[in-house]
Amino acid sequence: MSVDFLVVGAGVAGMRAAITLAEQGTVLVVAKDAIEESSTEYAQGGIAVALSDDDNFSLHVQDTLMAGDGLCSGPAVEALVKEGPARIDELLRWGTNFDMENGHFVMGREGAHSRSRVLHAGGDSTGREIARALYEKSSSLKNLSFQSFAAVTDLLMEDGRVTGAVAYDQKTKSRVHVHARAVLLATGGAGQLFLNTTNPTVATGDGIGIAYRVGAEVSDAEFIQFHPTALFIPGRPRFLLSEALRGEGAILRNVNGDRFMHRYHAMEELAPRDVVSRSIIAEMAATQATHVLLDLSHKDAAWIRQRFPTIYETCFKFGIDLTKQAAPVHPAAHYIMGGVRTNLLGQTSVPGLYAAGEVACTGVHGANRLASNSLLEGVVFGARAGEAMLGEAAKPATGRTFGDEQFPLLERERLQQLAWEGCGIARNAAGIERVLKAIDHGGRHNIASPGRRDYERRNLATVLRLVAKAALKREESRGGHYRTDFPAKLDEPLHSSVRRGQATKLISWPVS
Ligand SMILES: Cc1cc2nc3c(=O)[nH]c(=O)nc-3n(C[C@H](O)[C@H](O)[C@H](O)COP(=O)(O)OP(=O)(O)OC[C@H]3O[C@@H](n4cnc5c(N)ncnc54)[C@H](O)[C@@H]3O)c2cc1C
Repeated sequence: MSVDFLVVGAGVAGMRAAITLAEQGTVLVVAKDAIEESSTEYAQGGIAVALSDDDNFSLHVQDTLMAGDGLCSGPAVEALVKEGPARIDELLRWGTNFDMENGHFVMGREGAHSRSRVLHAGGDSTGREIARALYEKSSSLKNLSFQSFAAVTDLLMEDGRVTGAVAYDQKTKSRVHVHARAVLLATGGAGQLFLNTTNPTVATGDGIGIAYRVGAEVSDAEFIQFHPTALFIPGRPRFLLSEALRGEGAILRNVNGDRFMHRYHAMEELAPRDVVSRSIIAEMAATQATHVLLDLSHKDAAWIRQRFPTIYETCFKFGIDLTKQAAPVHPAAHYIMGGVRTNLLGQTSVPGLYAAGEVACTGVHGANRLASNSLLEGVVFGARAGEAMLGEAAKPATGRTFGDEQFPLLERERLQQLAWEGCGIARNAAGIERVLKAIDHGGRHNIASPGRRDYERRNLATVLRLVAKAALKREESRGGHYRTDFPAKLDEPLHSSVRRGQATKLISWPVS
């Protein structure tokens, strides 16, 4: 089959790009699960934008750079912040209902933001509302179609450029070649790499694995943000208890009921996420507990139910009434700052291949993401990638796949365990080397009729290897990457960079 533009992923970045692309060509958006199954759908806290009277672009830029710990790309951050208001305007025109009071947006406050600048919708279901509006807008465009339950496994290449992709159709169990002038990877994050994660099951790092196999540059993959407060109920998925709870006054206590954040950081509960995550781990160790407690019960009960309806209901289902008691929480992998390296137009190092959203590494988050900047990244860089792809000329509908038909023998659960233990919140050389050894000695095999889980496992193993190699190379602690054997930060901020067939190195990015 042949289209002008192929978009892989139906989250905020993919849908935003597709809307621009549909102005000038046929667009197919594929998603490997139901269209609604994405991180976008689960985003609670909101979308950051400098719109309130006491805010301005330079404050939002400054907070983003501060969180990024020396590794943000200045031009990427400028683009994010300055184009934010126009993209929000667009979302409003397309029917997004952000929460308002007396004709004004309600602006939430989140950790490491110096101003209240987080727009939210439905209290705590911002992502769902944005995705709904984008989907409705997309569905009204005649050039644009969606295909669900189709997992892209590989890219098609001709003369060194990407000319399409191979999708595994889970309903017919067949592989379909889709030819296109350009392909956008908008496959989201890789949280499923870890035993504890807030990410949905689709977040298996596919875009990074797929791009790496055709030789694209992958950068800063070692920078993983661990969210400090995922609900800790043994045997249940780690449901996120948004940062906005702490923004609104929720308190962290250890299992003995004592507040502790003042002992770790001056900003206490609103310190950067990596600091809060490490503080919780330290407190868990000190009290020999499996979790700490997040307490909002001092706030008005009716207000809690109205401000955080989804969180309140979900906790209640698990037997925890947030209006009366504290919730058990534990850190969980939440966001990958690195990924497929792109320029500010979403172009990767491979012609014809673009990336936007969480899968991409534009440098907008540096070594650590400022809360609620990623939905914004999706609309800003999704739109930019869409614009740039329009310039790709038509190509003959040819191309072949190449690469790796072998699959790792290691099971998904084993990979997740390895990642959590060796490449988790606090890392050291011995632990990282154990991960690499287990992957390299884990063995590979051929599978006659591979299915989605096999393709995902192949990507999880590839991405874990890239994370581990970069984490080992980076002998310092910075942002989301913390080495117990190298706790200090080096003077020179360097990015990790790797391409297939080359060793991981640390480099400076040219000023763009
Ligand atoms: C619980 C939770 C809460 C969050 N809260 C916030 C918040 O309040 N504010 C904020 O800014 N950010 C938040 N984030 C982060 C933010 O939601 C994500 O970074 C962002 O939505 C990513 O958007 P995306 O378009 O890049 O990818 P996603 O929204 O994850 O979409 C990925 C898409 O790619 C598809 N896909 C993946 N692999 C393949 C494949 N091989 N073939 C075909 N399709 C594929 C998936 O099916 C899906 O459609 C949160 C994340 C989580 C998990």
